Amino acid sequence: MFRYCALLCLLLTSGVTAAEPDQLRLATFAADITIPLGHRCMGVLPIKAQRIEDPLEARGLVLLGSGKPVVIVALDWCEVRNGAYDQWRDQLATAAKTDRNRVMVCSLHQHDAPVTDSGAQALLDSVGMQGELYDVAFHADCIARVSDAVRTAIASAQPLTHVAASEAKVAQIASNRRVEYPDGRVGYNRGSRMDPKSAEAESDAGEIDPFLKSIHFYNGDRELATLTSYATHPMSYYGRGGVTADFVGMARRRRQLDTEGSMQIYLTGCSGDVTAGKYNDGAPATRGILADRLYRAMVEAAAAAKRQSITEYDFRCGELQLPFHEGEEFTEEAMTAVLQDDTASEKARILAAMGLSSLERLETQPIDLPCLDLGIAQIVLLPGEAFVGYQLMAQRLRPDSFVMAVGFGESWTGYIPTKRAFDEGFGHSWRWVGRGSEAVIREQLTRVLAE
Ligand SMILES: [Zn+2]
Repeated sequence: MFRYCALLCLLLTSGVTAAEPDQLRLATFAADITIPLGHRCMGVLPIKAQRIEDPLEARGLVLLGSGKPVVIVALDWCEVRNGAYDQWRDQLATAAKTDRNRVMVCSLHQHDAPVTDSGAQALLDSVGMQGELYDVAFHADCIARVSDAVRTAIASAQPLTHVAASEAKVAQIASNRRVEYPDGRVGYNRGSRMDPKSAEAESDAGEIDPFLKSIHFYNGDRELATLTSYATHPMSYYGRGGVTADFVGMARRRRQLDTEGSMQIYLTGCSGDVTAGKYNDGAPATRGILADRLYRAMVEAAAAAKRQSITEYDFRCGELQLPFHEGEEFTEEAMTAVLQDDTASEKARILAAMGLSSLERLETQPIDLPCLDLGIAQIVLLPGEAFVGYQLMAQRLRPDSFVMAVGFGESWTGYIPTKRAFDEGFGHSWRWVGRGSEAVIREQLTRVLAE
């Protein structure tokens, strides 16, 4: 208490306007959101949660004092979709006394973690598949706990006086799914783990963003929080029943031990087509190796951070009206038939329910494209599994600035290929958007990133 008073006196006498009502403030929060045993992972995996390898967390911050508050929350979950996405945003908006679209909810996309979609689960309930996508009561409880954490955090928000933006190159994690074979063929065949002797492992890394980006928030010279982002799928191995925040969670926790008092928040970049496949054999020990590489970049980026004063932030939000998947199996009739067919596989019926939920959503509500502008840096949240090409596009749209593009916001889209990937025949059942997505995203990105 004495130290706090001394600090406050110092701030007041040094001319920092702590007493002014529009002083910027920052609140940080965290809460446990680990799924119960027996819960479905990744929406459709056949092996459900059998043991907790390490907890799943929600970690975030609230910016206050320049217009309405802006909330950023990162979940150690696979995806949050449609009505479930609005449940998170609405309740956190109420807790922070702000608007829904100023709550930037993103998942880190670990695969031994849940996918939630309230519309899809309601459809599954109607055909006797209660709880098969996710546990609705557990989900509501997580939102309530995180909302409480937001309220508590705001009550003890700290003055925000400086920010810094920096980056560091990451060694040997990211590689693109797209592989150019020696005979000239192109295929999107690099998964998240590969045999080191395979052509997919030996081929070049392809299009990636090699830089880990970090944005640091300070009260004077004391760091309050760091947002760190890197574009890669976050899993080393999955589908064996071990719930985990995986190597990105390991790196974040190790970095947290170095930075007591500063909330470490990791965000997954736009990485629908980026995995660790070139460098990951899927062996359990490799998880720690990947975590170590990411951690080293976090340390290097933090060491390069240079504080600059901040007196305001700005917020802009675009709207994405994306086209739906063009395939005949993605019509309302076809998906309804699969959902109601009790001889169809569980996976097929869950995918159909998610498709129907998304189709209804697409017809009634565009996807928000929120952008938080800190002056020296912009943070833009893209939907779902946007390919890394969109992250690089966002950076090219503001060559004068520092753009942190984050993926896995509203995630009903599944994969969002670039035009090139569509042209090259990228095909996957985890895709609900159609051709033409790139033009829509480019237009809205241009708008929200403009000064
Ligand atoms: Zn994915």
